Parts: sequence; C-alpha cells; structure tokens
Amino acid sequence: MALVNIHFLNLQNNYLFADIAKKVNAFKVTHPKADVISLGIGDVSQPLAPAVVEAMHKAANEMASAESFRGYGPEQGYDFLREAILKNDFLPRGIHLDIDEVFINDGAKSDTGNFQELLHWDNFIGVTDPIYPVYIDSNVMIGRCGTFRDGRWTNVRYMPITAENGFIPEVPKGRPVDVIYLCYPNNPTGIVITKQELRKWVNYALKNDALILFDAAYQAYIQDPEIPHSIYEIRGARKCAVEFRSFSKTAGFTGVRCGYTIVPKDVSVATFEGERIPLNQLWLRRQCTKFNGCSYISQRAAEAIYTPEGKAQVKATIDYYMHNAHKMLETLRSLGYECYGGENAPYIWMRTPNGMGSWQFFEALLYGANVVCTPGVGFGPSGEGYVRFTAFGTQESTAEALNRIAAWSKG
Ligand SMILES: *Cc1c(COP(=O)(O)O)cnc(C)c1O
Repeated sequence: MALVNIHFLNLQNNYLFADIAKKVNAFKVTHPKADVISLGIGDVSQPLAPAVVEAMHKAANEMASAESFRGYGPEQGYDFLREAILKNDFLPRGIHLDIDEVFINDGAKSDTGNFQELLHWDNFIGVTDPIYPVYIDSNVMIGRCGTFRDGRWTNVRYMPITAENGFIPEVPKGRPVDVIYLCYPNNPTGIVITKQELRKWVNYALKNDALILFDAAYQAYIQDPEIPHSIYEIRGARKCAVEFRSFSKTAGFTGVRCGYTIVPKDVSVATFEGERIPLNQLWLRRQCTKFNGCSYISQRAAEAIYTPEGKAQVKATIDYYMHNAHKMLETLRSLGYECYGGENAPYIWMRTPNGMGSWQFFEALLYGANVVCTPGVGFGPSGEGYVRFTAFGTQESTAEALNRIAAWSKG
C-alpha cells in the first residue's frame, strides 16, 4: 500500500496567492466591468534587458548547430557564469569565494526550499515573522515544525519584526535555534538590516553552532551604501551561513529561471558523534542526484547582466521600480497611512488604518478602489494588521492605483 507523506496534510490550506486569486476572481465575477490593478503578487512587469535578450538569441543559435550544441551541463552551473558572479557580485565587496562555492540553480525558490534536506529532521528552526512562506512550508513537508496551533507552528521560533520593535528582530533567548532563516532586504516588509544588526546574528550562529540561511534575493534594490548586500560582508559568516541569490528580481528572470546559492567550504554541521560534515560537499552530492542544471540559454542570459550594457540596463529597470516605490511611499504617507520599507526594496509595508485586519483591509481596498494588495497575515502571525504593496507594476498602473487609493481614502 502506497502511503502518503502525512506531513503534507499538515500544510495550512492554500498557498497565499491562490487565496488572493480566489477572492479577486469572485470580485471580478460580480463586477465584470471593473478594471482591477494588482499591487499584490511579487512578479515583475518590465521586459528583459536588451543585452540579456541578445545573449539568449545567440545561445539559441548555438543550440541549432551540431558543433556548438550543448546538452547536459555541469550540475553546479557553467564556469563562465560562476566566474562572472564571483568577479561582479563578491570581489568588489572584498569577498573572496572559490568557484566551487557557487551553485547555479533554476531560481532561489528551489534552493531555499530544498536546502533543509541536508539537515536532521528535528533541528529547531527560527524565522523572522512575517516571512516568505517557502521557508516554513518546506520544513513542514519534512515534519520539522510540529503542529499548527493559533496561527503558529509549535516547533518554530518566530522572531517578530513589527513597528513596535522598529522591525529589528531579537536574537533568540532560551532554547537555542539550530537553523535561522533571514531574508534581507526583507520580503514582505521591505526593511533592510544594518551590518551591526547582521553581525549579532552571525555571532549568535557562531556561538551556538547554528546555521544561517540568508536570502538576498532583493540585494540589487539596496540604495544605501552602508547596507550589506551579502552576509559574507560580516566576518565569520563563511563559517555559519549559506546565501541564496536570484536573477528574478534583479533582472526580471521570473520566467527565465536562474539564480545561485553560495555554500562556503567552511560551513559544516555536526553528527551526533561530533564529526563535522561540510555542507558544500553534501549540497554538491544532493544537486548531482536531484538536479540536472539550469538551462544553457538561461545561464548565458544571466551572464549578460554582468556586461557593461547589461549592468546599465538592469540598473535602469531597478530605478524604474524604485521610482514606483517612492511615489507609493509619498502618496500613501500623504494620505496618513503608516508605511515602512520601500527605500531599499521594492515593497511597501503598510499598517492598516483603525486596527483593521489584513484580510478586511484587502477586501475593502479591492471593493472600494479595485486595487489588490497582499494581506500581511499571509506572511506570518505578526503580519496581521499590515498589507504589502509591490513596486513591480508599470509606472502607469501604479500611478492609477495610487489615484484610486487617494480618492477612496478621502471618500
Ligand atoms: C522572489 C523571491 C525569491 C526568488 O524566487 P525565484 O525562484 O528565484 O524566482 C526568493 N526569495 C524571496 C524572498 C523572494 O521573494
């Protein structure tokens, strides 16, 4: 008899964005003429940079002739891309990594979800709250989170990030956390972390022999030169941290699919007998078994963002979205809303007025202004009473959405 993995049955209902789509569709059925603008899901609106498209055309042509055709590539990715990453994303920040520490993937979601496979099933995980749902759900699937009670998993340490604590999570006290997920710039709050605050986490991990899984998917949006782009800017991090990066938000690769993970050779985890096992070797073994590489065309596309033209074009698109973010902050604040983020990240985190619940505000905004936001509680219990707006829309639709929100709020 084939039995189900019962941990999957513990997953909470639907994926957040499926719930939102259901409610938006219900609205559209009853209001067929309404033109709904989504500032909800974190997908981009602008096309790929011309340098990227050109590289993809060229790679496609290579695939068309027997002499230059490429079949399976290395599971860890092609050296041309791994070298470009080291040279452009890390060396200028004084971070020296070995090429074998770079693992190309098909986007950061896979690796942020899969990496926990390397860890013992009863490690105690900690997450900032609110947080990108993939971290917890992937741990639920393997049975690591306990049971779900009152909006929380019993075996997960939630570290609130709210206006009350200035969005600075506190390093855990009491029972030590073994594995810590951090995402900075943060999705959903759009908040960043200073080197000083990040250093506390690295020191915590070193002291408690914990592992930090650091998601830097939004690092390209950082404007403030003092804010770290990589956790390896902190001394000691290469002993305790794995870093995930993605070209999805950096360069509009949500449909192309390419990202990478840094697993330093100095990061190791223990056996019960006290032996140290380097995660780099383990991850390589795991990838070679379960992953056959990111497509050659996608990797050539990613390489092109590191050319001078590519860099300029990608930056122009990021500036385009950050212009949206500034407009959103300006308008929403002028309307009296309490807003956070949006300065070094493409997300605005807004407190709902008059203590409204996240879903209640979501519906009011949908029916009142025909604008979709994301209910903050969908990212964790401390997200209740907030909503997230994304800056990834077109400038036209964002401006129109803001006009509607203004008219509705004053109405
Ligand atoms: C969008 C996003 C990712 C990256 O997703 P891809 O699989 O690379 O498209 C990773 N982490 C966070 C927090 C994200 O918001």
